[in-house]
Amino acid sequence: MPEVAADNERIKGYLFEEKGLTNVCAIRILKRSIDARQRTIFVNLTVRAYVNEEPTELEYTPIHYPIVDGKPQVIVVGAGPGGLFAALRLIELGLRPVVIERGKDVHQRKLDIANISRTQMVDSESNYSFGEGGAGAYSDGKLYTRSKKRGNVEKILNVFCQHGASTDILVDAHPHIGTDKLPRVIENMRNTIIRCGGEVYFQTRMDAIIINDNKVVGIQTNTGKEFMGPVILATGHSARDVYAWLYDNGVEIEAKGIAVGVRLEHPSHRIDQIQYHRGEGRGKFLPAAEYSFVTQVRGRGVYSFCMCPGGIVVPAATGPEQIVVNGMSPSHRNTAWSNSGMVVELRQEDMQIENGKLKIDDAVLETDIEAIEHSIHPQGNSQSSVFNSQLKTLAFQAALERLCWMQGNYKQTAPAQRMADFVNGRLGGSLPESSYAPGLIPSPLHFWMPSFITDRLRDGFRYFGKQSHGFLTNEATVIGVETRTSSPVRILRDNESLQHVRVQGLFPCGEGAGYAGGIVSAAIDGERCAEACFNYMGN
Ligand SMILES: Cc1cc2nc3c(=O)[nH]c(=O)nc-3n(C[C@H](O)[C@H](O)[C@H](O)COP(=O)(O)OP(=O)(O)OC[C@H]3O[C@@H](n4cnc5c(N)ncnc54)[C@H](O)[C@@H]3O)c2cc1C
Repeated sequence: MPEVAADNERIKGYLFEEKGLTNVCAIRILKRSIDARQRTIFVNLTVRAYVNEEPTELEYTPIHYPIVDGKPQVIVVGAGPGGLFAALRLIELGLRPVVIERGKDVHQRKLDIANISRTQMVDSESNYSFGEGGAGAYSDGKLYTRSKKRGNVEKILNVFCQHGASTDILVDAHPHIGTDKLPRVIENMRNTIIRCGGEVYFQTRMDAIIINDNKVVGIQTNTGKEFMGPVILATGHSARDVYAWLYDNGVEIEAKGIAVGVRLEHPSHRIDQIQYHRGEGRGKFLPAAEYSFVTQVRGRGVYSFCMCPGGIVVPAATGPEQIVVNGMSPSHRNTAWSNSGMVVELRQEDMQIENGKLKIDDAVLETDIEAIEHSIHPQGNSQSSVFNSQLKTLAFQAALERLCWMQGNYKQTAPAQRMADFVNGRLGGSLPESSYAPGLIPSPLHFWMPSFITDRLRDGFRYFGKQSHGFLTNEATVIGVETRTSSPVRILRDNESLQHVRVQGLFPCGEGAGYAGGIVSAAIDGERCAEACFNYMGN
């Protein structure tokens, strides 16, 4: 029962009454999951009981980070989970990381994030995606992954614990850290890197990779300083200038499919009622409820993504003339709302440019093509449009974001509609209260978003509403647009050496390279790239 599972003394009582264990001095919970499939809710625990003794061992396995002063250096571009975990692994392996980050440190960055709602402006170098900790810093901090390599996942969770995350993440079936706790953990990781002899540079943007004879020599930055050594490129999926540079300089990349849609926000109490099958909601002892939905609609996946129970919807654009929404939650997941991305799979063949018009299937995207081309590729290219290049998916992603910004009154106020109105094609008017701080503006999303996406979302919502009674409701709000679900580009790398397919000493890493999605998988990829770089350096 949830109330027993939440109280160590009652667990001890249970061990005595049901298992006959006496003199239990302490208990340690090893695994915890919630089974809410039936009306009676169970919390499944695996518990270690200490009889006549107190625990002496640490709850996590600490890692030894040696001093790497004077050791060969490796340039790590990007201080997101991919870059930070690459840097820490390099230290473990006896190499000296030099971390280059375009944004500010995790604390200063917070001010720029707060400013988005105050000024309606996004700082292109310091925002929800750019800055120390990367896109993972101001997030839900969900740490589950589809990775099957359990050992690797445990290692990542251990590193987080060693740097100050709660050891609950080693126990919970769906671990998460929370946006209030993540900055301190990230700062501690930076301190480990510096204490061991590594370097970390903030507000330093890589502007070019120096390549001689198909081999990386180092990087150039906007501060004028060059850094020499092999490069782990962990710049995330929003560094559009990095993709443009690779494209312009013939470093092989390819366009890939993405998923796009909306953020859906419900009152958290409603989600708790649905998922826990009881009118009173979650009560005192259960966490804010999660959900996960997936279906197929006319040949494309429609699914929930990055669900944030008890969280908020955030403005996650990385530049001007964009609206991008995402979600995060504090460690206690205790806001009045629960949200998730609700997205539709978009393949390359779904997007075309025809007679100077952008189209997703048959629907025309009424937006300024030249403005988008310029924002992605300021140098221009008279030969071809980015909409016909390896930057194609990125360009369509940018087109949707610009369209949304236009609907949002050319500000960060996001266009939104009540969920049932959206499904039934009604214009609607008023909107429920929302957690989205820059504000919402009523807008018929079914009208201006491409029908390829909205029709599938509407069918998906109908199906999810049948599966979970009460889910399809006008108490919920759909907010546009959710576009940064994964990388729109893949930087081609060799499966074995993890180096770029042609350029030696360049290790495309993490989500931006197209080889990870989410904090844990980016961190795992960071570690793998560090190991590959260690091998490359002749070790
Ligand atoms: C609001 C939000 C909530 C999220 N919630 C979750 C969640 O709960 N769980 C989860 O698993 N995932 C979540 N994600 C996704 C997750 O954060 C990413 O998958 C992950 O951060 C990717 O890691 P990365 O290191 O590959 O790239 P990023 O985290 O994107 O890091 C890239 C870094 O590179 C820097 N950079 C870019 N270009 C340059 C350059 N030219 N020079 C120097 N530095 C550069 C950027 O500033 C950034 O710090 C969330 C994302 C957002 C935006």
